[in-house]
Amino acid sequence: TQHLLARVAAAKDLGAFLHVDPDYALTRARDADARLAAGEAGALIGVPLAHKDIFVTRDMPTTAGSKMLAGYLSPFDATVVERLNAAGTVSLGKLNCDEFAMGSANENSAYFKALNPWDRTRVPGGSSGGSAVAVAAGLVPATTGTDTGGSIRQPASFSGITGIKPTYGVCSRYGMIAFASSLDQAGVFARSAEDCALLLSTMSGFDERDATSVQQPPQDFSAQMLAPRDGATAAQPLKGLRIGLPKEFFPAALSADVNSAVRAGLAELEKLGATLVDVSLPRTELAIPVYYIIAPAEASSNLSRFDGVKFGHRAKTYGNLIDMYEKTRAEGFGAEVKRRIMIGSYVLSHGYYDAYYLQAQKLRRMIADDFQQAFQHCDLIAGPVAPTVAWKQGEGADDPVKAYLADIFTLPGSLAGLPGMSVPVGLGEGGMPVGLQLLGNYFKEGTLLHAAHALQ
Ligand code: GLN
Repeated sequence: TQHLLARVAAAKDLGAFLHVDPDYALTRARDADARLAAGEAGALIGVPLAHKDIFVTRDMPTTAGSKMLAGYLSPFDATVVERLNAAGTVSLGKLNCDEFAMGSANENSAYFKALNPWDRTRVPGGSSGGSAVAVAAGLVPATTGTDTGGSIRQPASFSGITGIKPTYGVCSRYGMIAFASSLDQAGVFARSAEDCALLLSTMSGFDERDATSVQQPPQDFSAQMLAPRDGATAAQPLKGLRIGLPKEFFPAALSADVNSAVRAGLAELEKLGATLVDVSLPRTELAIPVYYIIAPAEASSNLSRFDGVKFGHRAKTYGNLIDMYEKTRAEGFGAEVKRRIMIGSYVLSHGYYDAYYLQAQKLRRMIADDFQQAFQHCDLIAGPVAPTVAWKQGEGADDPVKAYLADIFTLPGSLAGLPGMSVPVGLGEGGMPVGLQLLGNYFKEGTLLHAAHALQ
């Protein structure tokens, strides 16, 4: 913990952390020492990590990357945090992210940007940018993140690390500041599938405080990851595993460097015994408009609670109540958050609901059905995480639609609620890392981790 706190301090300019608490971390580390000295066993006792600042924490402030929540101290811990704390992990602090998890580059953080440690002129991806940077720069061995439309898989890919987003409902959303509740899901960043499995086993599981939490017994993802497949051999651990390649995930517009790194990863999976099969996800392109209707719609509703009364910021001077709401929200929210609240309110409004929101919901169902069709022919689906490697800082800043379009490969899986991973498979343009996206059917985290582990 001491060593990593020093690394965190030395790497301040990377912008990974919004808040670091050395005293708290050292106290927790001493508690962990005492537990170990008392003979307690537990793989995570004393393991330093850090949490995305979208998880509320009792011991440290939580901002969700927004001025709206500057200085906010939650009276309770998010379930994910509570479970990792109980397992003995030592949180060093809270990690930078796009405001309310809206973004793909961590440039929408109301505080400061996070820089990609591979090339500081580039973005680390987002919205869980700080979570990816902290692991990629060796500041902590693992971090938590959230993925609504790609916010774990894409920054993991851009930063050359491993990330997993489980099936919707596997991790509790209790205490995770809501962006789009039907999509939000917690997950992990680490240097390997092995570490991801360890953390995920601890974080996940039924929680009665989240109405969409899945009622399944606690999972041992490490054991699932290591369990040999039927017919597997030492040289071919993935024998019999069918990996589907949706043709829509390899469009002409996919940049050549990403394509070749992804193909190299697929060739590696073949060597390990997997068979590649062609599949189709015909509504892939529609995932973008569908997501950018549903996510803002839910956000506009979720963010109505930030009104200057219940939480966080309140304007200093105002006339009447309405004026107070307006000034508070005008001051507290950044441009991207305001844009999404406006889009969301519009698509939910009388007269437009049927034309936009309802249509989007129908298409969402069809996108999920397309995956079930594809999974008739394969066990996992593979493709790129993003069309390019990490772009330069500032490049997407003035063109939100351009950034939305880059989410094309992560949004379909999110809309369907499927588990997904990003596994590093090579380097592309500028020596920047490229991740392979693996998607599984519901509750197939074990198969995902197994394939990722074999690849590593
Ligand atoms: N880039 C997507 C967005 O801006 C996804 C964000 C996320 O998964 N939190 O909404």
